[in-house]
Amino acid sequence: MTSSSDPRLASLEIFIQEHPTIQYATATSPNYSTLRATYTLDNPAIPFAIVRPQNAEDVAAAVKFAKANGIKPVVRSGGNSLFWKSMVQDSFVIDMRDIAYVNINKLKTSATVGGGILFGDLGEHLTNEGLATALGTIPFIGYVGWSTYGGYGPFSAQYGLGCDNIIGAKVVNWRGEVIEADSDLLRCIRGAGGAFGPVVELTVKLYPLKNILAGLIIYDSTDIATTIQNFNSGYQKLSIEGLPPALCALQMVLNSPYGKIFACTFIWGSDDHETGQTYLAKIAALGQVVNNTVAPNTIAGYLQQLKAMVPPNAYGSIETISIRKLNAEALAVIARNIEKMPQVDGANFFMHELRGPSATPNPESIFGPREPHMVLELIKTVAEQRDLKRAEDWVGTFIDELRKMDPRNILPSTYISITKPGSNSFKNIFGPSNYEVLLEMKRKYDPEGTFDLAQPEVNSLK
Ligand SMILES: Cc1cc2nc3c(=O)[nH]c(=O)nc-3n(C[C@H](O)[C@H](O)[C@H](O)COP(=O)(O)OP(=O)(O)OC[C@H]3O[C@@H](n4cnc5c(N)ncnc54)[C@H](O)[C@@H]3O)c2cc1C
Repeated sequence: MTSSSDPRLASLEIFIQEHPTIQYATATSPNYSTLRATYTLDNPAIPFAIVRPQNAEDVAAAVKFAKANGIKPVVRSGGNSLFWKSMVQDSFVIDMRDIAYVNINKLKTSATVGGGILFGDLGEHLTNEGLATALGTIPFIGYVGWSTYGGYGPFSAQYGLGCDNIIGAKVVNWRGEVIEADSDLLRCIRGAGGAFGPVVELTVKLYPLKNILAGLIIYDSTDIATTIQNFNSGYQKLSIEGLPPALCALQMVLNSPYGKIFACTFIWGSDDHETGQTYLAKIAALGQVVNNTVAPNTIAGYLQQLKAMVPPNAYGSIETISIRKLNAEALAVIARNIEKMPQVDGANFFMHELRGPSATPNPESIFGPREPHMVLELIKTVAEQRDLKRAEDWVGTFIDELRKMDPRNILPSTYISITKPGSNSFKNIFGPSNYEVLLEMKRKYDPEGTFDLAQPEVNSLK
């Protein structure tokens, strides 16, 4: 660190001398660009500094340092915030990635995990023990950043959302103390994530699971609108008959070297592969299959497979809307806009279904939409910056048409992790009564607004 007229840099120098194991970078450090790199490539923010604590006490010291020097802290784990919430201009970035332990209890019913653990590492630990928990799909996503704001994934129908699997949390509070979350705070962490300070440890539920069936089914997409319509009318019939909790069929439209394709990621989260094969045949029969990679795998294995399908970084973000049913109107809007999807690398469309345990009211969490629904993801995270405008124009028209649909089919809530700040109110996102709880808890647990950058829309000082 070189001397500067900024007295905070001199303080930082002393802080680092007192905590020599904490790696750090400021804008002039040689390792700055490596430490600063995140999923989105278009975030211009230059934080005051980035620090990489090694344990909860280091995180507490970092929060105290930030407060003493009048710099707002923000927390980063996987660095996948699509709206730049983990890399903010002039902030003090607390990068949790070195706090990535996994300790499984003797009964193998729960694990304590470090606040910076990524899916890939957690998946590997659990696979080695023949265990599972609610997880998402991309190995470089941070488990805390995903689960505490909701956490949709292939195991939602049987284990629930990520947030519903959290049974304990350690947080660094606004005073810079490591505290065990009480039931009030835990309720808010299950939905509003890091709004109360860095989560240095979570305790999460575990389930026995050795092998899954996983892979991609690609359907003939020559007439992609009809393919989507046919898949969904068949899928709805299967839903009425009753879908097993172990089944996930995540629908997606992707750009491939052969053109636009409709596919579904099939994941069967149970060791009973005989039944799984029966459902695989039923899902495959919903269209004309041109390629089917579904095979026995482990959680760690499928996470690595999916890594190969997603670029490590991109320009742009996502638009979203959640709907109750994929009814005829919704399918018509989707089909029409999928036909217009530009052939650029990174323009995609995904649909996450929420059914099962998390789709019913839960007073122990403030996550909003507790009813069965589909989260529609209009993805404009493109590999090449020159393609961004085309992807944005496509998504802009698509989302406008979706928002004009029958309002009775549209949930007021949208998924916070993929909601552009300002495009929906927090009252809608959490629901009016949960929102009141969140405000009250924010005033109680963050009275000076120390962590307001986490979710600026719930500023305790407003
Ligand atoms: C390619 C891609 C695929 C995705 N797929 C899915 C999906 O299938 N299902 C789904 O539900 N979501 C998905 N998401 C959204 C993703 O879950 C969120 O962006 C998530 O918040 C990312 O967490 P992170 O730690 O990787 O990112 P970060 O940018 O590091 O963190 C995201 C947010 O969480 C906060 N945070 C992270 N760690 C902590 C902590 N320890 N303590 C306090 N606050 C913390 C950060 O401050 C920030 O506000 C996807 C996103 C991307 C980019």
